[in-house]
Amino acid sequence: MPDPVSILIVTIVSALLSLGVLGSMLSARVAGVRDWVMGCSLSIASLVLVCMQAYDWPKAISVIAANQLLMLGLLIILQGCRKFAGIKPVRQMEYLAWLLILAGMWYWTYYSDNLNARIALVSVFHAYIYFSVAWISYQIRPDGHFSYAYRFVCIAASIGGLTHAARGLTYGLGLVRQNHLLETSSATTLFLGLGIVALPCLAAGRVMLVHDRLVRRLEHLASVDELTGALMRRACLMQAERALRTAVRTGRPLSLAMIDLDRFKAINDSRGHAAGDRVLKHFGGLIGGSLRASDVFGRMGGEEFIVICPETTQAEGVKMLERMQRLIQRVPCVVDGTDLAYTFSAGVGVYKPGESLAELMARVDETLYVAKSRGRDCIVEAPPEWRVDKPSTVGAEARAAAAGAAAGAAVEG
Ligand code: GH3
Ligand code: MG
Ligand code: MG
Repeated sequence: MPDPVSILIVTIVSALLSLGVLGSMLSARVAGVRDWVMGCSLSIASLVLVCMQAYDWPKAISVIAANQLLMLGLLIILQGCRKFAGIKPVRQMEYLAWLLILAGMWYWTYYSDNLNARIALVSVFHAYIYFSVAWISYQIRPDGHFSYAYRFVCIAASIGGLTHAARGLTYGLGLVRQNHLLETSSATTLFLGLGIVALPCLAAGRVMLVHDRLVRRLEHLASVDELTGALMRRACLMQAERALRTAVRTGRPLSLAMIDLDRFKAINDSRGHAAGDRVLKHFGGLIGGSLRASDVFGRMGGEEFIVICPETTQAEGVKMLERMQRLIQRVPCVVDGTDLAYTFSAGVGVYKPGESLAELMARVDETLYVAKSRGRDCIVEAPPEWRVDKPSTVGAEARAAAAGAAAGAAVEG
């Protein structure tokens, strides 16, 4: 049977490796990582002190200080998990419990030497920490392909929590009796063995969580336009394709609107590029914030935007655009202390069975040019019978003229 000191040494080595990996992630500036590094360092120091029991170091160091340090390390790791999850990190009651356990450890070491009581006390605290970590990762797990790391941490922490709970019960109820913590016994080997599995698994899980956060950060940077908060072209088209597939499958209507800010170049020329940027930010913030979670809002380039609305008829799409017009009139865009009024023109159409996304976009794009040709600041509906064969080969003016002849209903804004 492996002796407990050897098991502890293996745990220390694996914790050192995890510390090295976590340390390399400090520069990623992910919330909680600093606490994980600190908590892990304290845990390693405490395990070294526990090993010193084998060399008869004073109990004040190898028992009391070692255990309190280990619990403090785990508490800091829990705080790191809370920071990572974006919830309030410090709970005063936990530090109070830590102090009460210190008093209990002192009592059951110097006044009534009781190893079972000490193990039970410490195990309950450890179980609480592990279950708390499991609960946090369960609560904040995202849907879909990003959930793996969260489930991994949840399972590893639950195993750790169950191990410590079982250990607390076993020793607390006196089912196992020992004179020395590091005495070789099946119970010690079992509990330390399970502990040694849970600890590095949890550390690996934390590394996965940081990795996951970094990947998501990069995905966000690559898919969301910083200025307007709208999706960038590629990400937007991917989501639009997905929405279209759903519409085809369910047979529900799907509306698509193309929006272009009016005479935007003039704003840039008269008020400066920074003022133009303010307008784009104002538009993106208002429109993005007014849409449903299922709607797709993208910036196709410059001052051109697209909105894809599932479960929305063409008439409802027009209403949505009219609501947008009222919104940008009602909430002024303030630049250098003065209101900078602006308008947009839009085309809107509903998906026709058998149509591809490119065809739908081309059809709606034509109506946008009709809106421009009608003097701007208006919304034009794409007639369903319309078919655009070569969407982007003709110039804007020619397209506007051609489309103007074909476009049916127009809704003046
Ligand atoms: P129209 O009503 O016909 O749409 O006229 P417009 O002036 O809005 O359109 P045009 O295509 O002539 O000009 C668009 C301008 O948008 C030109 C370009 O410099 C500017 N622009 C593109 N991207 C940005 C940006 O990110 N910030 C700023 N400030 N301007 C931009
Ligand atoms: Mg424009
Ligand atoms: Mg434009």
